[in-house]
Amino acid sequence: MTSTAPLAATYTEARLAFLAAAERAGATLASYPHPGRGPDAEELAVDVAELGPADADTVVMVVSATHGVEGFCGSALQRHWLQTHAADRPRQTRLAMVHALNPYGFAWVRRVNEDNVDLNRNFIDWHQPPPASVDYDRLADILVPTEWTEESRARTTDELLGVIAEWGFERVQKGVSGGQYSHPSGIFYGGSEPVWSHRWLRGWTSAALRRAKRVVIIDLHTGLGPWGHGELISSASATSPGFARAAVMWSGVRSMTDGDSVSSQLAGDWLAIADDLAPQAEVTAIALEYGTVDAISVVESLRADAHLHAFGDPTGAGAPAVRAMVRAAFADDDPAWIETAWPQFLVVIDAALRA
Ligand SMILES: [Zn+2]
Repeated sequence: MTSTAPLAATYTEARLAFLAAAERAGATLASYPHPGRGPDAEELAVDVAELGPADADTVVMVVSATHGVEGFCGSALQRHWLQTHAADRPRQTRLAMVHALNPYGFAWVRRVNEDNVDLNRNFIDWHQPPPASVDYDRLADILVPTEWTEESRARTTDELLGVIAEWGFERVQKGVSGGQYSHPSGIFYGGSEPVWSHRWLRGWTSAALRRAKRVVIIDLHTGLGPWGHGELISSASATSPGFARAAVMWSGVRSMTDGDSVSSQLAGDWLAIADDLAPQAEVTAIALEYGTVDAISVVESLRADAHLHAFGDPTGAGAPAVRAMVRAAFADDDPAWIETAWPQFLVVIDAALRA
């Protein structure tokens, strides 16, 4: 096995390495500028590298950084595939590598976007009032207190552990991470309207997938589950045709809606509306979720990040330590971690390209 390169240090480093690998692989490249800037005023964009015939019946989409910071892993997997496997891919299939769906979050080392919105809570039906989140409302002040000191952190963590003892872990996980629409500076906030990356995705897919008969989507994530283990998560119910197609294509697929996945059932993830992105096509969509550290450490990093952006100074002296904490929760710089992740990705993308 060719060893995978280390994870990039920054969004821009990841982006340039991806673009270089795509160019060397002979991909067609398109960049879609994001209106924001990174912490060093760097430019942000969604970059798309495409290989294969434009009129192919089957399109495979591989997406990184739906949750910004998770792009350190996703980008590395995309780049390494372009470097090592682009030449021997099946020729009749079109492959679209979408690099950094949420480039702002990637650059700022955040899971969320420029609006503190979790993109995978933003794809609800905005013609209806957003879902209520009674449990989150009760936890909001504990999760993101106005002060983030050793004392407040210890106190609120104790309070949170107390609620876990009272409600059980599953109810708390669902209450915290299921998505909420009433605390804009909280965690797992779904927003108040379709955000930039949401609108971009709908626009791009409506043109790029319009002739496809079959679409396979692989969305790359990190932060849930055992270290280095990639879990395949379907947003479809285990009794649906979409789930059945996924289970034929890949082994070990779990359904998010049936309670057997590492993920809670959530509102507004984009794979749940994947059918709408190519209504004429048969769409098979999967999230590939790699475990990093334990769930408490992940939530701690998100709380620190939310506090920094709501009440602190994201450009101040304390910010790099918070970003380092978030990065450590979503990407392990131990080379063994990406080496473990890589062969699992290769199996998943191979199955999609050869289906
Ligand atoms: Zn994610």
